[in-house]
Amino acid sequence: MSEHDREKARAIGESHRRHDEKKLATILKSRQFQAIKGVRDILPPESALWNRVEQAAREVFGTFGFAEIRLPIFEQTELFARSIGLESDVVAKEMYEFEDHASKELAALRTLLLAEEPTIDDPQFFWSYEMKVTDFKERLKMGLDRGEIPKTPENERVCEALGPLLDSIAFARQEYEKTSGQSHAARLELYVKQVRNSLSEVRTQVTVTHLGDDITLRPEATASVVRAYIEHGMQNLPGNVKLYYMGPMFRRERPQKGRYRQFYQIGAEVLGSSDAPGIDAEVIEMLLAFFERLKLKGAVLHINSIGDKNCRPAYVERLRAELQKVREQLGADSQRRIETNPLRVLDSKLEHEQAIIEKLPRIADHLCAECRAHYDEVKRQLGLRGIAYQENWRLVRGLDYYMRTTFEITAPGLGSQNAVCGGGRYDGLVELLGGPATTKGIGFAIGTDRLVLSLQESGVGEVSGGPARSAGGLDVYLAWFGAAAQTAAVGLARRLRDAGFVVELPAVEMKFGKSLGLADRLKARHAVILGEDELAAGVVAVKRLADGTQQKLAEQDLFSYLRAARDF
Ligand code: ATP
Ligand code: MG
Repeated sequence: MSEHDREKARAIGESHRRHDEKKLATILKSRQFQAIKGVRDILPPESALWNRVEQAAREVFGTFGFAEIRLPIFEQTELFARSIGLESDVVAKEMYEFEDHASKELAALRTLLLAEEPTIDDPQFFWSYEMKVTDFKERLKMGLDRGEIPKTPENERVCEALGPLLDSIAFARQEYEKTSGQSHAARLELYVKQVRNSLSEVRTQVTVTHLGDDITLRPEATASVVRAYIEHGMQNLPGNVKLYYMGPMFRRERPQKGRYRQFYQIGAEVLGSSDAPGIDAEVIEMLLAFFERLKLKGAVLHINSIGDKNCRPAYVERLRAELQKVREQLGADSQRRIETNPLRVLDSKLEHEQAIIEKLPRIADHLCAECRAHYDEVKRQLGLRGIAYQENWRLVRGLDYYMRTTFEITAPGLGSQNAVCGGGRYDGLVELLGGPATTKGIGFAIGTDRLVLSLQESGVGEVSGGPARSAGGLDVYLAWFGAAAQTAAVGLARRLRDAGFVVELPAVEMKFGKSLGLADRLKARHAVILGEDELAAGVVAVKRLADGTQQKLAEQDLFSYLRAARDF
């Protein structure tokens, strides 16, 4: 390809880009931004309830010896794929995945090359496609040399393969461009024939390039906790490692009440060499203590055991065989799950499947002796803690790593999205992710959005004044009049805030009526008025806005007056 050709191609590319930018600018100008579908803002005063919930979790979990771990929001896709399972809904459909590429141009070029179908027999098209492939190959090579693109065997192979392919395409073009010899039609036919094969090979090559790490926004956090546990050698710590986390998770689901694409979880995990049923029971006890602290009403604990690698496979086969017999009566999802994950059929909410599912074999009848003993002991341990539970043989979890104990907590006021918490034991996960085979694990994840919803629905989510006033609004609206009073007001505001009062200080001077009107609308408990007269007399006027009573006080009396009003 000559320098002239390249210049021409660059000019075409440039003009396209300018056109796109203009189009984008027009769209942006005429648009009001909105939060993306399935994500939302949590606004005051609701955010205060969220803080209260998170604070309660810290306090309650802290008393059980748990410490916080703060985890990354994204991880390698492979971490989730391997732990949660390829057949799970989360991995198969719901993850936000992307390739973390260093070169945007290269990625855009790849998209372009794959989007265009190089089968049209137009020499003009072939020519521009050839230019793009050349550009791609050069950038790929540069990226590999600079270490910006992963040096995977595939990438290196592609880089090598593109050279000869481009040579043969260029050679065919030169033959076609020779005006002597055969007729134009014959030359074109030959050109098309030669180039088509090469171009489809180019596409195959381009498809397998890997321009950066595969990354996923975390759909859950257990995998990350386990990754961190292994990465930091936490198996060497004494006793069980007890960690909790809180933060956003991301799943591309159909948004509805209690189901979002960015949602929040508060979770905890216990990792260590023991799988004693007492650990399972204590984790559940902690969870319930947390809900009790929040005064959550109507929470119901459901438990089950889903066996382990000794007994579950045989049960799953039995289940599959029984499901085969009723295949025709099942919906499409369940039919598919007969092959991929029969346990998940038990989770079906479809009305017409319920009677069929009730007749299926139950795992409780197929647990091996160890799993049965473990489950019995978990129940006994719950009993000795006075914890009520419902056994639910259909309780299976959507994530592959669970085994033995599984549990879920439902709460009222949530419609069909009524699970506020899911959890269970995952003894094989640490080993699966490359850690010691002896490490066992158990944990849970609370859906914070649903927990907050349920608290609100049952009327205990009201954020009131009271002693924890930070959410309870304004103690003092500090109205000042005149420049000298402003200086005094700034100082007074600072001293009030240092003493813990919530103070609103107007930034500009307002007329008296307007200022006091604003104090009312902000629902301040007191207006403190500072004008020239007060300044001269060394006092402030305090007006209790609930009943309009007003008095003049010296500064030290103001503090004790406000304190008394707060305790009241
Ligand atoms: P569900 O059956 O409701 O989809 P799940 O089994 O997928 O839940 P887990 O992966 O066990 O849920 O997550 C634990 C908790 O996180 C759930 O019990 C729920 O409270 C919450 N949760 C899960 N997905 C969402 C979501 N998309 N929006 C809000 N909360 C969610
Ligand atoms: Mg789900």
